[in-house]
Amino acid sequence: MFQRILIANRGEIALRVLRACRRLGISPVVAYSEADRDTRAVQLADEAICIGPAEARRSYLSAASVISAALVTGCDAIHPGYGFLSEDDAFAETTRAHGLTFIGPPPNVLERFASKAGTRALLAAHGLPTVPGSQGMLRDDDHALAEAERIGYPVLLKPSAGGGGRGMRMVRTARELQQAITICRSEARAAFGDDSLYLEKWLEENHHVEVQVVVDRFGNGIHVGERDCSVQRRHQKVVEESPSLALDDGRRAALLETAIRSVVAAGYESVGTLEFLVDGNGDYYFIEINCRIQVEHPVTEMRSGIDLVAEQIRIAAGEPLSIRQEDVRLDGHAIELRINAEDAAHDFRPQAGLVERYLAPGGPGVRMDSHLFAGYEVPPYYDSLLGKLIVWGPDRPAAIERARAALDELVVDGLVTNIPFHRALLRSEPFLAGSFTTNLLDRVGAAAFLAAENG
Ligand code: ADP
Repeated sequence: MFQRILIANRGEIALRVLRACRRLGISPVVAYSEADRDTRAVQLADEAICIGPAEARRSYLSAASVISAALVTGCDAIHPGYGFLSEDDAFAETTRAHGLTFIGPPPNVLERFASKAGTRALLAAHGLPTVPGSQGMLRDDDHALAEAERIGYPVLLKPSAGGGGRGMRMVRTARELQQAITICRSEARAAFGDDSLYLEKWLEENHHVEVQVVVDRFGNGIHVGERDCSVQRRHQKVVEESPSLALDDGRRAALLETAIRSVVAAGYESVGTLEFLVDGNGDYYFIEINCRIQVEHPVTEMRSGIDLVAEQIRIAAGEPLSIRQEDVRLDGHAIELRINAEDAAHDFRPQAGLVERYLAPGGPGVRMDSHLFAGYEVPPYYDSLLGKLIVWGPDRPAAIERARAALDELVVDGLVTNIPFHRALLRSEPFLAGSFTTNLLDRVGAAAFLAAENG
């Protein structure tokens, strides 16, 4: 097992990894940017090391800075958290070249799953149904037009290196397509340094359902159930829950079984998530894999009692899986609310500023993963996640009850957050009935939810 891990991330996930280190008896070292000097993770670490200025490109995204920090502080492994360098195969390779372990899939596995278009083809070959779409990357406009014609409009243009819901574009006609390709390519180049695109059929009404998998290097793999992440704004998740209401027991079993079988066959290793769209018939289609720990992993931890980050660290250290599929027990219902510094009434505009008061909720079945404290200054440089409120109940209504009570206890004063939005959502008819799909917020608008709550 590792002696000392460098945590190359910030915010709540830096704390989460730090806790896993403590649990495993590993010494945590935190790498921080100048903007994150006064943070909980830095305070709680055995050692902390500054890796550069606020700008992520020169700190959290700088492979050279992160690796030097690990070497200087005597670490034997690097945990990248999520985002930043977490799925970067070149970084994982450089880490290894310096005698350090990257906590995540090995570099060659990351490389195999790096392109979304390539992964679609790979997993389809191993038996996963995928959303109808282009065969590989789009070569040029003519190829795109021919593929869109074959798939049938509307189609969705997607960057193959994409993530975080960015850069996708829905296209209804051949005339729109050419222009959309130009815009999409330049956005993808700017955001991901890679302008390759592919096409998928646009599925209007769908649920986003994902499967948590854990696979060791000996090819033992388990799934830990599914999460439903259909409450989204601009293709980004705001609420996640498990189990999903979009699946009956038969389809759920088929999805979980197919997902784990195909990903093991394709040679995956580490914790990971396979994402699917589920249509009104309960039919599921693979969209992408996330080769890292995800923001919403606590939903699964609440139902299974498995510490996914500890499991991820053990696997990277070469240990075999400690749990067999038949030992995985998924109980009750869990819901996660992402608490963001953003103004739901104004198109979810991100906010920054001083947290004047912070009071976390508690009690049975309530977990708050957050790096906030009173006096903490939310910097404007990074994503808007302030924390995650996760609740568990024996069934969905009980979980919703707990979520409401916990939200009433939660206080974040000093800046605008999406807490009022969550309050409204948890009282809204579509959420209570479970009759919502991924386009709910973009269609109805968050403002409508807020207005209903205020009225
Ligand atoms: P990213 O990697 O940027 O997060 P994903 O491929 O995971 O992108 O898709 C994010 C979200 O976009 C999905 O959860 C869903 O809401 C929407 N989406 C993706 N593909 C489709 C599709 N083919 N049709 C309709 N909506 C889609």
